[in-house]
Amino acid sequence: MSSSNRALRARVREQLRHLNVQPPLQMDELCRRFGEQRGRPIDLQSLVLPARTTAVTFVTSEADIIVYQRETTRAHQHFACTHELGHLMLGHQPDTPDREAVLRFWQDLMPNLPSKHLQGALMRSCSDHANERAAETVARIVRAWTSVLDHLYPAGYDPDTPPWVRGGLSERQGWL
Ligand SMILES: [Zn+2]
Repeated sequence: MSSSNRALRARVREQLRHLNVQPPLQMDELCRRFGEQRGRPIDLQSLVLPARTTAVTFVTSEADIIVYQRETTRAHQHFACTHELGHLMLGHQPDTPDREAVLRFWQDLMPNLPSKHLQGALMRSCSDHANERAAETVARIVRAWTSVLDHLYPAGYDPDTPPWVRGGLSERQGWL
């Protein structure tokens, strides 16, 4: 692993630790906390998207809107959403210079898209490979965390368990 990749992973884990999300992972909760932390809300929506489109992020003057594919597995949805969240955590900018083309393409699918405020979109197919790899790294870190912790804390886990009871585990098993 290169030193820049290690630095990226360390930076992402630090950000995720600060968000203090608890297992099992709730994607809307992760987005809400991150939106609050940076003072700019993230709106999460599912939609039947064109085939092979996993998720897209619309950047508006008011908020970021992550739209993800409704017709796929929950694991795939989580991965796609955290990839998009990764772009936002790393401060990536929309890579669609032609705002009008974005609008023409998406307005039929998303009549509620706040077109007046739209600045651009981040898409998985975007051409900036370095940014794509970095966003993918964020998604992999979250997937590694959830695959361990969702197993340790199955459904029905009581998040109100006193911290000293689960402290030993969460110390070691926090963001990997
Ligand atoms: Zn992407």
